[in-house]
Amino acid sequence: MSGSASPGPTSCSGCGRTPRADEPIAAGGVPWTWSTAREGDRVTVLCDACAREHARSIEAKLDAEWW
Ligand SMILES: [Zn+2]
Repeated sequence: MSGSASPGPTSCSGCGRTPRADEPIAAGGVPWTWSTAREGDRVTVLCDACAREHARSIEAKLDAEWW
């Protein structure tokens, strides 16, 4: 029986790296320390490092749009 639809290995949308063995994987195949962002039907996965930079760029973007 072939029923398991595997989404494939999770990789960071920012740097493209895959979760390390020492990173605890949460439900969904994404490490706890990583963050996921939903954009329509697409799900963007960012590792801890990229998530930080992403948050920074978002703040900068908001800041720029305010002016
Ligand atoms: Zn990354």
